[in-house]
Amino acid sequence: MSDHENTTRVGQVKDITSLSNPIIKDIRALSMKKHRDETGTFLAEGLKLVIDAIDLGWSIRTLIYAKAQRGKDQVEKIAALTIARGGLVLEVSEKVLTAITRRDNPQAVIAVFEQQVMALCAVKIKPDDTWVALDRVRDPGNLGTIIRTADAAGASGVMLIGDTVDPFSTETVRATMGSIFAVPLVRISEKDFLAWSGKTKPLVVGSHLKGSVDYRTIGYQNQPVVLLMGNEQQGLPDTLAEACGKLARIPQSGRADSLNLAIATGVMLFEARRHLLDLGDATP
Ligand code: SAM
Repeated sequence: MSDHENTTRVGQVKDITSLSNPIIKDIRALSMKKHRDETGTFLAEGLKLVIDAIDLGWSIRTLIYAKAQRGKDQVEKIAALTIARGGLVLEVSEKVLTAITRRDNPQAVIAVFEQQVMALCAVKIKPDDTWVALDRVRDPGNLGTIIRTADAAGASGVMLIGDTVDPFSTETVRATMGSIFAVPLVRISEKDFLAWSGKTKPLVVGSHLKGSVDYRTIGYQNQPVVLLMGNEQQGLPDTLAEACGKLARIPQSGRADSLNLAIATGVMLFEARRHLLDLGDATP
């Protein structure tokens, strides 16, 4: 850290131990969707994740860290950067961290970020692009896992169709393991999705239990692809199924009626991008 950053930091870090501090009350309220919507912010936990977010250009509104982290090089650097960009830095007790995260062993570094979603008009599809579109996804763990999987498979982003679970809920953000910062999200109504796909004409592959096409036989190459996945309980409605260029099924054996949504998305996604992935590119 430079001298300049050191100077910037002096006197600008708030030391908080009380749960009744209004700033802490405000941060704790981020566990509620209403408050996240009103403030346009969300909470993410973990030093690595916070560093990754900064590297990807996200802005920290408030950085919160445990007292024991004071003086640690990476934490000091993030604190200086947060202050330099007009954010707030809080040094807090373990009790406060536990209360904010609602976990017994909380991460020592957490941060409040501004939410970012991509406007549909900013989506420019190209051959080799694969988008995942989720119809009314309900389960935060499923959504987080799908965002993480989309990141790992090199998908261009995830479209959330209709009334879905909040992608910025703590549970979803945790399940993304940091991919929330790397994968563009688009929120869209069913009507707008149908209009957009009709106009831009990607290959829309609907994943459907009654699909007539084996998902492994589809030619995914050299064209933009949208993998359209159904709701956990109801599957794809006819209105969306009818708009699909292909209705694909993953063959199953055994007694299970269907695959879990996140698993089905992963299976479809890695098949659709198989020709684009090799071990040379995918070194973790
Ligand atoms: N009861 C729902 C139904 O009738 O579709 C089950 C939905 S399933 C839990 C959630 C989604 O995962 C489905 O809508 C579909 O997109 C995908 N899915 C699950 N198993 C699949 C399979 N064997 N083939 C194709 N898609 C599948």
